[in-house]
Amino acid sequence: MEFIAPSNSPEKPPENLTLESTLKDMAVLNFQIEASSLAKDVARLFQSHPLLPGVILTVNGDFLGMISRRRFMERMSRPYGVDIFACRPIMALYQIAQTDILILPGVALIVMAAQRAVQRPPEQLYEPIVVQLAPQVYRLLDVHQVLVALSQIHQQATWYISELYYNLSVTQSELEAANSQLKTANSELYRLANSDGLTQVANRRCFNQYLEKTWQELGEQTAEISLILCDIDFFKKYNDTYGHQAGDACLQQVAQAIVDAVKNSAGEVSEEALVARYGGEEFAVILPRTSPEIAVAIGEQIRVWVKKLEIENINSAVSACVTLSLGVASTVPGLEISKKDLIAAADRSLYQAKDAGRDRVHFCLANF
Ligand code: GH3
Ligand code: MG
Ligand code: MG
Repeated sequence: MEFIAPSNSPEKPPENLTLESTLKDMAVLNFQIEASSLAKDVARLFQSHPLLPGVILTVNGDFLGMISRRRFMERMSRPYGVDIFACRPIMALYQIAQTDILILPGVALIVMAAQRAVQRPPEQLYEPIVVQLAPQVYRLLDVHQVLVALSQIHQQATWYISELYYNLSVTQSELEAANSQLKTANSELYRLANSDGLTQVANRRCFNQYLEKTWQELGEQTAEISLILCDIDFFKKYNDTYGHQAGDACLQQVAQAIVDAVKNSAGEVSEEALVARYGGEEFAVILPRTSPEIAVAIGEQIRVWVKKLEIENINSAVSACVTLSLGVASTVPGLEISKKDLIAAADRSLYQAKDAGRDRVHFCLANF
């Protein structure tokens, strides 16, 4: 299997973009593999690059098409998906899961590209965009990146309008109307770029940014932070039993129950708590200024709320309905400890909860 690592980090938001900026001005991803590579190798590639939205497929170096993470996971998680596809070339899965690919030239305006991307049908909305930089030179672009860039362009346009106000004496009410329209458009774009398309809670990108920001703030104040990782028990069995669509609906219900449980934690949790989709069937809750005892109590409340949904999962080995295992970790951010240590500790707790029989909460203090 061959792939070329991206030269630019997709995490970094594009800077100084204008209405005239084109896709060439953005950090595009260069992930390509031969269509003869095995699907299990592609699965490994996705696993080791959690933010990779898809891969470009080539035949003898020539562009064939693109398979998105979402479509790949969807096929693999169907009953017998892994058995059917894992040891076959990715070409076999691609042909079955094939969908319309949005291919745009590198010279396309970002504003136009965003318009084209969001005009796609809902099930294709989050498919990555393929950018053709030159004949036979193709790259990938996460649709979130385009929306973030568009949001920045809108902000510049807002600034431009306020300049006009001074130079051309535009009336106050006209300016306010234009500004309020732009604000609405900006906040909608911000929401799209930061939320998970399926469950509407914060996405992994938002989780990373919020943890970074909170970590710095709490470090300066020597205040506690807690993290809860929640993983649905036997969710593969759920998909196998009830189908992928029912699995998606289950993820939506569970996400909402987690949000409700956190909101209703008897005023103990500050407004600062963030619920995010951390991975496929995993959710994370960042709890700034929250002690281990309260974090464990909130974890327990989440566990109970999800169980009370009584979503049937007859093939679960621990319960007749959908349950969660939860790992909780707490620390005070400081020089001797990193965010990664906190996440690793919550992950360890989660595995202890799984090992101890699932449908329970475990806690450990984060150390380095
Ligand atoms: P455990 O109790 O050990 O957590 O077992 P599990 O089956 O929940 O865990 P495993 O990691 O084996 O399987 C997770 C499953 O979640 C596999 C994958 O198909 C499914 N999944 C991941 N993302 C999605 C999604 O967006 N929609 C649906 N329907 N299923 C998803
Ligand atoms: Mg999992
Ligand atoms: Mg699971």
